[in-house]
Amino acid sequence: MKSWRILFSSLLDLIFPPTCLNCSALLRVEQSFGPICSDCLNQVEINHAFFQSKDLRRVPAGTNPKFQEANYPLLAVSNYHCPTTRKLIKDLKFNGRTTIQPTIKKLLLEYLHFIQLDLSDFIIVPLPLSAKRLRGRGYNQSEIIARSLAEITKLPVSTKLLIRSKHSRPQSELKSKQDRITNIQGAFSVGQVDRPANLLIVDDIFTTGATINEAVKTLNNFGFKKIVALVLAKR
Ligand SMILES: [Zn+2]
Repeated sequence: MKSWRILFSSLLDLIFPPTCLNCSALLRVEQSFGPICSDCLNQVEINHAFFQSKDLRRVPAGTNPKFQEANYPLLAVSNYHCPTTRKLIKDLKFNGRTTIQPTIKKLLLEYLHFIQLDLSDFIIVPLPLSAKRLRGRGYNQSEIIARSLAEITKLPVSTKLLIRSKHSRPQSELKSKQDRITNIQGAFSVGQVDRPANLLIVDDIFTTGATINEAVKTLNNFGFKKIVALVLAKR
């Protein structure tokens, strides 16, 4: 059965050869980093530092981060002004391109290598979507990033620890920081907590930080030791 599937997919590749999602160049069959060519992959701007969430102050690799509720360490793989990064996130979030998971994994691997942050005893927590949005999209893009991160770090992923208890408007539809804060207030609750641990919250982008700030605020009432956030891109 499996060999038939491979044969069928090889036939499809012959008729419709896979192309780069960013520049439409033909892809080499043997490449292992998803539907993007190596030229476009190299255009992705990778940060060589992490940041403090409050003011996005750059923290060089090797420095001890501050763990505070209103100023947690933010690990941002890339930046939203990079056109290739923007395209990747848009495809993942709005165009159903879950096939870019190997691309995400490759970028995460490169970024984690640069920042060298000790993540032992952390649990990976993808930011949950509301049930309504999950039904509409069919998957949670943050969970796809979280699973890639887990493959690299071998850390556990929990999708039951942080719960989305309220549906809210997409933050991208709201322009002002205050509107975004109000929109997301009370959106999360804490579900199953097995043990006190360090948490690595994962989302796709960090714009004003309103969504992750609200999640951190909710989690902080439950005595977690250290909380860190990771996104594919920051503003
Ligand atoms: Zn390309």
